[in-house]
Amino acid sequence: MSYRGRFAPSPTGRLHFGSLVAALASYADARSAQGEWLLRIEDVDRPRTREGAAGLILRDLERLGFAWDGDVLHQSARTDAYRAALDALRGRGLAYRCTCTRRDLASAPRNALGETIYPGYCRPDPAHDGPGSGRAAWRAAVPAQAVTVVDRGFGSLVQDLAADVGDFVIRRSDGWFAYQLAVVVDDAAQGITDVVRGADLLLSTPRQVYLQRALGLPTPRYFHVPVATDRHGVKLSKHLGARALADDAAKALVDAWRFLGQAEPPAPPASVDEFWTYALSNWRAGHVPAQFTLPALVNQDLHR
Ligand code: GLU
Ligand code: ZN
Repeated sequence: MSYRGRFAPSPTGRLHFGSLVAALASYADARSAQGEWLLRIEDVDRPRTREGAAGLILRDLERLGFAWDGDVLHQSARTDAYRAALDALRGRGLAYRCTCTRRDLASAPRNALGETIYPGYCRPDPAHDGPGSGRAAWRAAVPAQAVTVVDRGFGSLVQDLAADVGDFVIRRSDGWFAYQLAVVVDDAAQGITDVVRGADLLLSTPRQVYLQRALGLPTPRYFHVPVATDRHGVKLSKHLGARALADDAAKALVDAWRFLGQAEPPAPPASVDEFWTYALSNWRAGHVPAQFTLPALVNQDLHR
């Protein structure tokens, strides 16, 4: 079985416990399957990108003993590929310009995450397609049809994109391409077979699978792992984002390893190398807890 995994951090700050958990899960899963592991810096969202953060993330990963294959891909250098994907969607009548303002959408319905379900105001109005004038976003037109994703952790997730999300933004009105489009284009371009990442992205997956199908791209296997949250269910990175990991790299790895439900090493590893020697022969994907709840998932048809 060929396996190519990846870690795709957004350079909004340093590596923190939450991102270490995602990195560790994807790395252990890939390497214990004799797979490759690639790195991608998701700096597509330029306004949120912090100067120097990408370099610090790479240094932290090195210090923690992660070794990646090939060159690091930067989304900021991939604009042409995203534009080609947008053109392909347009060619199939699956993307359209949207000139709605925040105010236009203020009374639109919202989903369980509090996100606007786009009511389709700008949908196929030929006057909006074409060169247009002024600022406009681009949206992907979604069908009134459920998308099913089979996840290794959660089992199957069925989402009706039209009812739960609506036509979603693939290029923002400020000109930057949206994460949902960029991640699909890049996972395909990098030949990713296995996406292992935090469960906060589980509900983005049906949108991504929809785009893959619309663009004729393969769908990787997905495995969403628990996200570190505090007792109020707030994602840890939200307030610990800037906090560096423990200086003791081996200890930081063991903490993340435990969080993923993995068996305790017989003795605390004295070094990063010792940790990885143990980890890569003891990784059990089936031990990663699946019985965790995100408040946002309440309205989803979620079952193993
Ligand atoms: N860049 C995203 C993040 O840091 C991860 C995207 C992904 O793994 O698909 O949250
Ligand atoms: Zn609109």
